[in-house]
Amino acid sequence: MDLTTAGTDIARVIVRGEEISARLQELARKVEADYEGRDLLIIGILKGAVMTMADFSRALNRHVEMDWMAVSSYGSGTKSSGVVRILKDLDRDITGREVLIVEDIVDTGLTLAWLKSNLESRGTKSVEILTMLRKPEAAKVDVDVKYVGFDIPKEFVVGYGLDYNEKYRNLDFIGVLAEHVYS
Ligand code: 5GP
Repeated sequence: MDLTTAGTDIARVIVRGEEISARLQELARKVEADYEGRDLLIIGILKGAVMTMADFSRALNRHVEMDWMAVSSYGSGTKSSGVVRILKDLDRDITGREVLIVEDIVDTGLTLAWLKSNLESRGTKSVEILTMLRKPEAAKVDVDVKYVGFDIPKEFVVGYGLDYNEKYRNLDFIGVLAEHVYS
């Protein structure tokens, strides 16, 4: 869905679709160089990272294996607690694998910090993180995010996989949700 159709639900566009595609090409070149000659497993975190995973994997000019995990980091509120539940685990054993987690957004970083150590505890050879978006608070947490699409302000964004009550995931851009939608 484009901005015209989304209309007044979107207060401001943060990243346009073309910018996302261009950035993913840049990140793909970096990942190709960093993992040259090594097998790579990319793990997408459902559901938010579906679009990033689909476009990033297709931007990669190399073989790659793909798997998916679903985790829930939020309780009833909208604040991340760091308590993570696995809703869907990986299909395969990842002992000895080089893993790249593909995420939509890092806010507090608590979810990813937990996820990274969870995957490392399975005997992986390496675990790195790629995220489309990063909010300022993430810098304060001790989780090393190797590949970042865009650093964005501390606002609630939707689109390109990110939802509000399961809506707006199919926007072809990333934007700030207008206040009237949730107030
Ligand atoms: P963290 O543990 O880093 O605070 O939580 C990250 C998760 O919070 C993301 O995977 C995403 O599900 C959710 N989240 C954080 N900020 C936003 C946002 O601006 N918009 C949406 N739709 N979800 C967000």
